[in-house]
Amino acid sequence: MAIQKVLIANRGEIALRIHRACHEMGIKTVAVHSTADADAMHVRLADEAICIGPPPAGESYLNIPNIISAAEISQADAIHPGYGFLSENARFAEIVESHDIIWIGPKPEHIRTMGDKIEAKRTAARLGLPLVPGSDGPVEDLAEAKRIAAEAGYPVIIKAASGGGGRGMKVCQSEDQLETLMQQAGSEAKAAFGDATVYIEKYLGDPRHIEFQIFGDGNGNAIHLGERDCSLQRRHQKVLEEAPSPVITPEQREEMGHLVARAMAEMGYRGAGTIEFLYENGEFYFIEMNTRLQVEHPVTEAITGLDLVREQIRIAEGHPLTLRQQDVVFRGHAIECRINAEDPATFAPSPGLVSHFHAPGGMNVRVDSGLYSGYRVPPYYDSMIAKLIVYGTTRAGAMRRLRRALEEFVIEGVRTTIPLHQKLLDDPEFQEGSYTIKWLEEWLQEQRG
Ligand code: ADP
Repeated sequence: MAIQKVLIANRGEIALRIHRACHEMGIKTVAVHSTADADAMHVRLADEAICIGPPPAGESYLNIPNIISAAEISQADAIHPGYGFLSENARFAEIVESHDIIWIGPKPEHIRTMGDKIEAKRTAARLGLPLVPGSDGPVEDLAEAKRIAAEAGYPVIIKAASGGGGRGMKVCQSEDQLETLMQQAGSEAKAAFGDATVYIEKYLGDPRHIEFQIFGDGNGNAIHLGERDCSLQRRHQKVLEEAPSPVITPEQREEMGHLVARAMAEMGYRGAGTIEFLYENGEFYFIEMNTRLQVEHPVTEAITGLDLVREQIRIAEGHPLTLRQQDVVFRGHAIECRINAEDPATFAPSPGLVSHFHAPGGMNVRVDSGLYSGYRVPPYYDSMIAKLIVYGTTRAGAMRRLRRALEEFVIEGVRTTIPLHQKLLDDPEFQEGSYTIKWLEEWLQEQRG
């Protein structure tokens, strides 16, 4: 069915991103927003806008009854959840569908299965994906924890089954710490996610984070769009992403890509998804799957030429995949910098009035941001205010372009992480591409000196 009007259940740059794809497809948009976001760019650009509550996300962007009412009042025939907020809420997806509104996302049962990290690992194992060694289910008591940790070998990582956003993880170096850390992990998981279930896996010493973008049509066809390297992380949160990974060979890409696409086809997966792996000594280890669009999707768009949001919408309309695997061609190199309203040294949030804004431009430079001069960054939400994505035919070329684009970027009034990205680009190890997931934290320590 051709979608006429999409309600965008999100805010910030991703709401704008979705709006743009819709308008290019001739689809009308409905923005929903909290009172804090009345002046947001995507609210201004959308065909209709509906206020769904006060600033706290729990009362607005996570307020399911208000969002469904907004969809009914505006007669939207589809909802796109973006990332974060309700995007991986299986119950919300079911509610949307039960109101005869098209859910631009995966089947609710797949969101549910993959949202439980233990179920996700079981599913991945069944579908033939390699796992990090560890427990094959929840770890109930200390004796079991000891046995599994000894089998996997220390250090191990204790993770919350319902975890996300890099929270709820504890690294345990030896058996004498296990009892305390198991208790801490359980109670923190309970507090943060309402579920104390934890599991254990081997803690890999120095891996990279490499993830594959996949798309399924829901009818047993699936393709992969190659990998993204997201190893540059601070507190398990991604800071800069690139595609392709500087360390993956075309043969590895084809082999792993084939494996994940086959797994998704077998599952009957629908829409966009990301399969995340840790990669160490030439081996991949599945850690989790995200059943939604990712922040870093533009680097994949840059090297494949495919508009991923358009593809999501087309699949939701019931169309087959635009590309067959043999039509997917990877060209050049793309890098994305996440620019946050934060102090570049202390990472303290820096909301407030953007007195001056000028985005870089030129060939192969893309800025996804809802900022404009006079916009006030609200203190209530994620601090990411812009994404800068550059493309070059080679990695070296992309880095040169990134340096140039960062020089042009002007955001005044709030502090931003632009200077951090500039410093990173000057680092020889970054330039070599030899970094792992621990590298950035160590580098930041050195900078503080
Ligand atoms: P979340 O859902 O909270 O993002 P993930 O399972 O995706 O959690 O892990 C986030 C990050 O934590 C990874 O990118 C990696 O940096 C680190 N990590 C997770 N599991 C392991 C592990 N077994 N060994 C080493 N690092 C890990």
